[in-house]
Amino acid sequence: MGKITGYLEYPRVHEEYAPVKERVLNFKEFIKTLPRDKAEIQAARCMSCGTPFCTNACPLHNVDPDFSDAIYNKKWKEAYDILSSTNNFPEITGRICPALCEASCALAFNDEATGNKSIERSIIDHAWEDGYVVPEPSPVKTGKKVAVIGSGPSGLACAQQLARAGHDVTVFEKNDRIGGLMRLGIPDFKLSKALIDRRAEQMKQEGVTFVLNTFVGKEGDLPQGVHCDATRRIDPSEIMKDFDAVVLSGGSETPRDLKAPGRELKGVHFALEYLIPQNKEDSDGTASPINVKDKTVVVIGGGDTGSDCVGTALRQGAKFVHQIELFPEPPREQNKLLTWPDWPRILRTSSSHDEGTELGRLDRLYALNTKAFIGENGSLKKLRLCKIKLENGRPVDIPDTEFEMEADYAFLAMGFLHPTDLTLDGFGVAKDKRGNAAATYELDTGFRTSVDKVFAAGDMRRGQSLVVWAISEGRRCAREVDRYLMGDSCLPPF
Ligand SMILES: Cc1cc2nc3c(=O)[nH]c(=O)nc-3n(C[C@H](O)[C@H](O)[C@H](O)COP(=O)(O)OP(=O)(O)OC[C@H]3O[C@@H](n4cnc5c(N)ncnc54)[C@H](O)[C@@H]3O)c2cc1C
Repeated sequence: MGKITGYLEYPRVHEEYAPVKERVLNFKEFIKTLPRDKAEIQAARCMSCGTPFCTNACPLHNVDPDFSDAIYNKKWKEAYDILSSTNNFPEITGRICPALCEASCALAFNDEATGNKSIERSIIDHAWEDGYVVPEPSPVKTGKKVAVIGSGPSGLACAQQLARAGHDVTVFEKNDRIGGLMRLGIPDFKLSKALIDRRAEQMKQEGVTFVLNTFVGKEGDLPQGVHCDATRRIDPSEIMKDFDAVVLSGGSETPRDLKAPGRELKGVHFALEYLIPQNKEDSDGTASPINVKDKTVVVIGGGDTGSDCVGTALRQGAKFVHQIELFPEPPREQNKLLTWPDWPRILRTSSSHDEGTELGRLDRLYALNTKAFIGENGSLKKLRLCKIKLENGRPVDIPDTEFEMEADYAFLAMGFLHPTDLTLDGFGVAKDKRGNAAATYELDTGFRTSVDKVFAAGDMRRGQSLVVWAISEGRRCAREVDRYLMGDSCLPPF
């Protein structure tokens, strides 16, 4: 523990945010990394409790008390070694993780949590600056070949671990750039894509090969709303022939649709049909076909994806954004006696929501069901909505409460159902009840699908989730693949 009385002496340190009026003028990151002196004070607040709930809550089991102690003692290289021993991409989780660790911090019980996420970001951003982050190629090659299908955080973490264990790893990606949802879903203002490029470079130097624009799966049409830049298809039988093991890490890409009348109108889109072209515009200047400047936008769905649509619409200059949610508004305050140290189900307010509120261009509405999209000349003009109440936990329409809301655009951000069948069926792997790749999670047999030598990790196995879970699954899966190929593994179990 750095400073025994630190948590009594110092209030929580907050990262600096660019002012709302400035930051909505562009798509650049607007949160500044904690400078070293502030990170050292933040770290001094860690109580190093006997039972580190933070480490337990983190899917990667980041050892927050240990790297905080190192930082407090100005041992930045040691802090980097501790952090990178559990997390392949801390610069990413340090920006976009919801920080499950902070919700379970013992200090959070009656004070503000230690800012673990900001410490994590500070350590890794300074480690890159200091030149500590270098390629770690394996000195020994096993001669085994592994194919990783999908280059999201689970595929990348898995590939990096396997390459460091000496295997010959090829990552196949159907889109024209690597990173999965980190690259094409999450906007630049939350995560600069230069960070993914820098990691890709490191991985190439560790021996990982990336094959882009290549879909691996059965022939057929992908569901509406699944983005695909592929210019060629490889049949799974070829991959099975050419590789000693295969990891399916293709994410949970099938979006939940809202099949109300008028769904086909111009202006009604899946969220990713809106976010992906904007991300591409930010990286290479290709103008997005959807621009909501001076338009009224309705975002249907209250999660991360919906919030990213809000931030994007505000930056494009939307006149007004309504974000509507089917379920009633969650409680604003956490009842810590009931929920701590678990992740509480409370109202979440993102930086995009703060922007909309400060600019007076956002409202968040709850307990509303969308009954119809109404158009004129084929384009969306209004939504017909209806209030709901919960009966036995299920939303039920309240009679005679229908009303109309003007809208030029509606973005459907209601989550993702399961992976694409063309990928899973192509390999013939069994699915679970929700349509994900069925693969166990136990240590020693984990991540194996019903087909020999085929493994699954990330959203493709667990359903839509978080980047931190994807990295964790990729790491764990790599260990199981290594054990399958070599009989044993030196890769860490977490
Ligand atoms: C808009 C949005 C915002 C989000 N914000 C956050 C956030 O702030 N914080 C957070 O923690 N999580 C967030 N998430 C969730 C997070 O991005 C995902 O949980 C995570 O990316 C899943 O990682 P993955 O590697 O399993 O899959 P993905 O990231 O989905 O990557 C899968 C990759 O596989 C490729 N692929 C699929 N099938 C094939 C195939 N057959 N052949 C070749 N390639 C294939 C896809 O093109 C894709 O690149 C967000 C999600 C969305 C949609």
